[in-house]
Amino acid sequence: MAAIGDMFYTWAADADVLKKGECGGAITALQQYALKSGMVDAVLAVRKGADLYDAVPTVITDPAEIAETAGSLHCGTLLLSKLVKDYLDANKTAKLGVTVKGCDTMGLIELAKRNAVDMDRLLLLGVNCGGSVSPVLARKMIAEKFEVDPDAVHKEEIDKGQFIIEYEGGHKGIKIDDLEDEGYGRRSNCRRCLYKVPRQADLACGNWGVIGEKAGNATFVEVCSEKGAKLLDAAAKAGAVATEPANPKGIEIRGKVEGAMLNLGNKWRKKDFEALASDLWGTIARETGRCIKCYSCIENCPVCFPAADELKGKSRMVVSGEVPPNPMFHLRRFAHISDSCINCGQCEELCPMDIPLALFSHAVRSEGDTAFEPKLGKAPYTN
Ligand code: FAD
Ligand code: SF4
Ligand code: SF4
Ligand code: SF4
Repeated sequence: MAAIGDMFYTWAADADVLKKGECGGAITALQQYALKSGMVDAVLAVRKGADLYDAVPTVITDPAEIAETAGSLHCGTLLLSKLVKDYLDANKTAKLGVTVKGCDTMGLIELAKRNAVDMDRLLLLGVNCGGSVSPVLARKMIAEKFEVDPDAVHKEEIDKGQFIIEYEGGHKGIKIDDLEDEGYGRRSNCRRCLYKVPRQADLACGNWGVIGEKAGNATFVEVCSEKGAKLLDAAAKAGAVATEPANPKGIEIRGKVEGAMLNLGNKWRKKDFEALASDLWGTIARETGRCIKCYSCIENCPVCFPAADELKGKSRMVVSGEVPPNPMFHLRRFAHISDSCINCGQCEELCPMDIPLALFSHAVRSEGDTAFEPKLGKAPYTN
């Protein structure tokens, strides 16, 4: 019987899922089992759209279709939290299985704190996350730094500190540090992210710590809740997945890699925030001077939803029809999200004017997080 804190190597029993999966297909097999067995009514996962740079969220109710979502899309910069809310709102009693990164999990927890999602209706399969790369920048990086046609790439991965591509005729890897020094690599919010192993999900799954003959063919699974333990036990008993205890050396390695990633995240926070500190208001005023008031930063923020209508039409402090908007437009938004900005990067990623919005709100919120309880994306949902 699995228990909270247990760690396993896990892989799909089905040969096709094992092959299609990023690291042995455990997540895909667990989602399939959860759906078939009625633990959930639907699964929200991500599948490849037009190409590798196009990550498409998809709700699935037929277990046979889940294999289409196998594999990790590191250029999938989407956030699933608000989609989960929309699904639960539209399907009043349904239970949903979701593959979540750390930021998806944090977004859901912040929504749950506002009674906007019911965590009891969710089964969260967490993926460890070293970061994601914006699709447009990824294409540019592959063309300019790797000197490979981005359309010739059929697989990308981030492993052992490198961004690696496989393409017709070969494969190449370049150190993420070197890419980031030159302005490529992970999104800036991902560099600052400290939520690398999503332990607030039901299971935290990743490739870190899988060593020996299982490397690349199994997922390291940490059990984080009773619900996660129940799923893993039942799926193993039904023959959907195979498991074995994680190698102790692998556990040690995983701990070290996680620690190194957290140190790197703190290094980026220091660098980004210190650069901003000397002229915070001047920088915000200058950058937001390009705003075309498209509202994308509001609509796509996982924690800003109740304020959208108010901000758009009914605010007494924002004059309608003014472009660029009065600074009050941005100050109002910062005020709305200041206690909950999870640094998911959606506002910045989707701003057509490339305004570094997540940097501003994250700088302010992370200072607050040293004092506020509960911490962002944490309790009261302790699983
Ligand atoms: P599969 O059975 O292949 O299932 C993969 C699941 O991930 C599917 O449900 C799919 O829909 C979902 N998915 C794919 N792309 C995304 C996305 N962009 N956002 C949300 N869900 C997605 N593990 C580590 O140990 N260290 C890392 O640094 C690390 N970085 C990652 C970064 C990203 C962006 C992602 C998506 C995953 C990362 N992982 C990392 C997890 C790892 O790549 C595997 O997903 C994990 O080991 C599970 O393997 P699997 O074969 O069981 O998954
Ligand atoms: Fe991954 Fe964190 Fe970036 Fe989300 S914010 S994609 S969890 S690194
Ligand atoms: Fe302005 Fe960018 Fe927000 Fe659009 S997304 S309203 S341009 S700051
Ligand atoms: Fe994410 Fe931006 Fe909203 Fe913060 S303000 S939670 S970074 S979308």
